[in-house]
Amino acid sequence: MEENTLAGFRQLLETRLDVVMHGGNGSALKTTVHGPIDPMDSVDMASHHRDQDLVNMLCYRSQKLVSEIRSAIKRIDDGKFGTCWLCSSSIALERLRAHPTAILCVRCQGAIETLKRRYPVA
Ligand SMILES: [Zn+2]
Repeated sequence: MEENTLAGFRQLLETRLDVVMHGGNGSALKTTVHGPIDPMDSVDMASHHRDQDLVNMLCYRSQKLVSEIRSAIKRIDDGKFGTCWLCSSSIALERLRAHPTAILCVRCQGAIETLKRRYPVA
């Protein structure tokens, strides 16, 4: 892959990393829901727990995305960006433009999706 193309992907990934980690404005992701502290009735408590569960899920997804983006940036540094982890063929540029953290080519990703459908995890 050409240096200019790699530089473009690096810029895109670094921008996405900043947006995920700081909302693009320097603020940190809030991981706690602050609600009424005392006293809570059962409805307030259920609502508070539901909100905290939602924040936890969003936090988990953000952490996963941060990990994927950092991994993609490391693959650029290591000269492995755009190479399929399974078959070592080049991942199509169109796929990388749509999904710059992709680690699999379309063929291998399709094979995995087929296996997941055939053998779903309970
Ligand atoms: Zn592949």
